Amino acid sequence: MRQTVEAICTLTALFAVLVANAQVANTPVPRYDLLLKGGHVIDPANGLDGKRDVAVLVGKVAAVEKDIPANEALKVVDVSGLYVTPGLIDIHYHVGHGGAPLNWFAPDSPDHEVPALAALLTADPRSQLAPLGVPADLALQSGVTTIVDAGTAGADTFLQEKEEVIDHAKVRVLAFLNIVADGMTGGLEQTVDQMDVKRCADTVLRYSDIIVGVKTAHYWTQKPLEELHPTWAAVDRAVACGEAAKVPVMFDFWPRPERSYADLILEKARPGDIHTHVFAQQFPIVLEDGKLNPILQQARNRGVIFDVGHGAGSFWFRNAVRAVKQGFVPDSMSTDLHTGDFLILSMSNVMSKFLSMGVPLSDLIRRATVNPAHEIHRPELGTLSIGKDADIAVLDELHGHFGYIDCGYAKMEGTSQIVARMTIRAGRILYDPSGLSMVQWEKARPQYFNIPMLQGSLPATADSYPRN
Ligand SMILES: [Zn+2]
Repeated sequence: MRQTVEAICTLTALFAVLVANAQVANTPVPRYDLLLKGGHVIDPANGLDGKRDVAVLVGKVAAVEKDIPANEALKVVDVSGLYVTPGLIDIHYHVGHGGAPLNWFAPDSPDHEVPALAALLTADPRSQLAPLGVPADLALQSGVTTIVDAGTAGADTFLQEKEEVIDHAKVRVLAFLNIVADGMTGGLEQTVDQMDVKRCADTVLRYSDIIVGVKTAHYWTQKPLEELHPTWAAVDRAVACGEAAKVPVMFDFWPRPERSYADLILEKARPGDIHTHVFAQQFPIVLEDGKLNPILQQARNRGVIFDVGHGAGSFWFRNAVRAVKQGFVPDSMSTDLHTGDFLILSMSNVMSKFLSMGVPLSDLIRRATVNPAHEIHRPELGTLSIGKDADIAVLDELHGHFGYIDCGYAKMEGTSQIVARMTIRAGRILYDPSGLSMVQWEKARPQYFNIPMLQGSLPATADSYPRN
């Protein structure tokens, strides 16, 4: 929030100076802070798919038109040959603060100690866990402007996650609250007593500006069921919290003989609930004859949502390719990003796989913008509608020979790849690694060439556009 206010102040001051200068010089008054000129806009929320210019003023989308004159903006960026889309939304992400483990937020977590030392001293296998949460702003590298943490924290640990990570991120961070009060703490995610419906619902309602749903995951997947671990405890309690707080539930699920996938998506899941990891190895997506399992369409007819949630263990081409060929594309793209997969995975990578399977780019953008926005009941996101936050991605579609991999270490070849060239969040240019919006260094304003002597000197930057 502080950064947003600063950015607005900077933009307003900049605007005032330029208006004054323009009036003196009798030149046209710039109406916009930023103009993305000449790009191909894909904005499925508004049914737009064609050449348009996009203008931004004080952090909001101000105009989307066929031709906006360049002299109407303070900063003009030539994006011809590129796609301009609403900032992408990744609804399955795991935040940390630069190496924090997923259970960092639990006050008694052994991972607060030095892991190797703690392992030696306590012999507790949990203290040997590698940190799993990744910095939220890593998402900006894929054109993502909103991420939704998928249950890293629960009712008892959410405040810490909020204060240590969410409140400091430049990317917008929302969250599914884990039905388990301690969040993702390995073994503790199995403790039914920790799945407290009232604490869950109270927390969702208290932080309804950030928490958009409930998450259940990893529940009792190996050992025999017994009295302390009823078959559907995690799913039932997550749904009860979803009912109480009137929010959707995201399921990470493992079928077993006592609880089938069909039971989950045809009985337990409510309309609007989300099955993430849909192409994981454990689901009967394709039947023995190679045909798509009809329960998927039956569930869709009931309003159940299917999400990718790729991750390090939840995406198999044997499911994905055959399902997509038969017309079943997940409703939303998402990464399940954590440190176990961030070296190879990104939102761009996930979307590139589907592009290479033949899903048109405009359809993919729909599944990375307006669809996830509606899944989390935030229709104001994922759109370039006038007056909304100027969250914008500039994407390039590369053509060539590319290799893609799945979680079963199989590969698929493709001829297309999506790469983010620029990411704008509330009007600020936060990611622009090739300098699309920057001036050639020799042409920078004079203060760029200053050697600062004292703190408080004019910053040696080539322009004054807000970039952090
Ligand atoms: Zn996950």
